[in-house]
This record gives sequence, structure tokens and C-alpha cells, in this order.
Amino acid sequence: MPKAAILNNPGEAFVVEEMTLTPLRPKEVRVKVRGVGICHTDLSAKDGVVPLPTPVVLGHEGAGEVLEVGSDVTRLKSGDHVVATFDTCGECQFCEAGRPAYCEVFAALNYFGTRMDGSATLCGCDGGDLHGSWFGQSTFATEAIISERNAVKVDKDLPIEILGPLGCGFLTGAGTVLNVLKPRAGQSIVIFGMGSVGLAALLAAKAADCGTIIAVDPNEKRLVLAKELGATHTFCPSKEDDIVWDVMEITSPGADFSVDCVGQGAVVRQALEVLRTPGTCATVGLASLENDITIDQGHLLLGRNLMGVIEGDADPHVLIPKLLDMWKAGAFPFDRLIEKFPFSEIEGAIAATKEGRVVKPVIVID
Ligand SMILES: [Zn+2]
Ligand SMILES: [Zn+2]
Repeated sequence: MPKAAILNNPGEAFVVEEMTLTPLRPKEVRVKVRGVGICHTDLSAKDGVVPLPTPVVLGHEGAGEVLEVGSDVTRLKSGDHVVATFDTCGECQFCEAGRPAYCEVFAALNYFGTRMDGSATLCGCDGGDLHGSWFGQSTFATEAIISERNAVKVDKDLPIEILGPLGCGFLTGAGTVLNVLKPRAGQSIVIFGMGSVGLAALLAAKAADCGTIIAVDPNEKRLVLAKELGATHTFCPSKEDDIVWDVMEITSPGADFSVDCVGQGAVVRQALEVLRTPGTCATVGLASLENDITIDQGHLLLGRNLMGVIEGDADPHVLIPKLLDMWKAGAFPFDRLIEKFPFSEIEGAIAATKEGRVVKPVIVID
């Protein structure tokens, strides 16, 4: 019987228990999960910051092997290796335009705990209610049901157990740089927050041949890692009197781009203030559902942009294969950000990332 890490109530620890999967719909596949990353959004949901129905199975950076395919699945077959990503409708104007992160029914497909028609993909071992479909997957589990559309097929010679974070965290950081900001060689970028999203953005900035790459984070170990991975300068906020001044001195007349992976008002403000004119700041960090920030309108004048980005504005079927090609060429070493944990230690993996000891924990399921 499959098992899942079940969240019974917000704020509680996961309980690993048996569960069952409901029958596949025509366009769905059943996947044996081989590895699943822990993303900040999973932790927000676990802590009750993001409202969702319980009991529920979280996990949305899964990767594994297809065990069974629905009757109308054409692109996948049993035995294929897939990275599961967020679910999208495939039919709305943004899906059709190759921008599925802005799918018009994104919330219903990814956050409501059921399929669009309200039916459940999961069932408790005693037959009780169990919510799934979290980001269209719920992969803190040994098996999961996902739609054919949110499964990205990958080569079998790749280490499938560590590929899951390419479906969300790494996609978000890399996509924000490569798809949205699109720096030219030699341009400057400042990245606030060296978690998995910020470090993936840094790897992408390095791959894009940015000239000056500045990393900001309170965790000194993260700054050491950022330097190893390509940051030209690093700053620890508690040790600087004025980060904006420091960045301006290095990038004069200011940075071409900045990325905020923190989501706090004071940081967004700094990320805007370090820009040259014109320059663009992308904010990607969700701190809470309601998060008022105050910025100086004067900083937006002269052509500065402040924009939000979800999931790197990426089409996962395009960006994930591209990131894997970059990885094979040594240009996107995302494996440096990963530490593996067994399924039984999922709570320990969460503690390790919350305490800043691990950038991207990945639960490996044998
Ligand atoms: Zn859509
Ligand atoms: Zn995520």
C-alpha cells in the first residue's frame, strides 16, 4: 500500500501513514515517487500561513517513474521518468501563450485539495477523506496521481531522485532570470535571499554571463556557497551600515537588475533602491497572503520597474529540459544546493532547512 506524509492539522508534524489512490482519470498518470524536494510553500502551508483543507498531503517538487497511464494519455508510458510540476489547464489564453504559470484556473488546480470537479485523488487508509492535488501532485508520498500535462518527461540516465526541485524552486529562480529579466552578458544583478530560489537565480545569472553578481543574505555559510557558485560580491545585512550604498558603489550608477527572494517590505525597498535607471526588480518570495509594503514612488520614476513573478514565468516543458542541458554542460550545478534525506526523516529535513543548515532538502524514496 502507498504511504504519505499526512498533515492532519496546520502547525502539526507530518504523520507517515498508508493511503490509497483513487482510479486514474483518462489524462492522468500514476507515478512512483523517487524523490521530492521540500519547498518554502510546503512549509507555509504546513504552518497554516496558506489556508488549505485538511487532512492533506503536501509536496510539489516530486520526480519519479510512471507506473500506470490513463486511457487518453499519449505522451507518456509506463516506465518513463518524469518531473512533476505545477498543474495548468492547457486551454486558457496564458497556457496557450506558453505562460502556464499565469493559467486562469491555477488556484483551483493547485491549491484546493481536489481535482477541478471536486473529486479526490487520495483516500485515507480507513476510507476517510484525504486531500491531495497540491500543486497538482501531493508528492510527499510513495505514489502520486498527476495529470499528463504537469509531467515533464526526462531521460532515464539522469539522477531522477534529485530532479524534483526543477519543477518549482529551481524553476522559479532560474526562470525569473532567464525568462523575465533576461540580462545581457556583462550586466549587473543583485539577489536578496540565498535560499534555493535565490541560489538558482544566481546560477542562472552566472550562466547568463552577468558581470557583477551580488548576493545578500544574513547566513554567512550561504554567502560562502554563493561565492563558490559565482557571486562576485556578498553582503551580510547585519554587518553593513547601508547595503544600498555598498551596492551603488560597486555597480555605479546602480544595478541593472535585482531579485527579491525574501518578500519582506524592507528588502523589497532595498531591492528597488539599488537599481540604476532604468532597471528592473523582480519580487518572487511569498511571505504571507497579505503583505503590505511601502515603497518610495520616487524610486519608481525614471523607468525603474517593480514586478512580481510566479514560477519564473516558465513553461516547465521548455525550461526544465533547458536547465538539464545546462546542468550536463556544467553551467547549472543545482545538485550543489541539494541534501538528501530518507522519507522517515522528513521532519528533520524541514528543521534543517528552517534553521538554514540545508538549502534544498530532497526526500529520497527507495
Ligand atoms: Zn490555463
Ligand atoms: Zn514551490
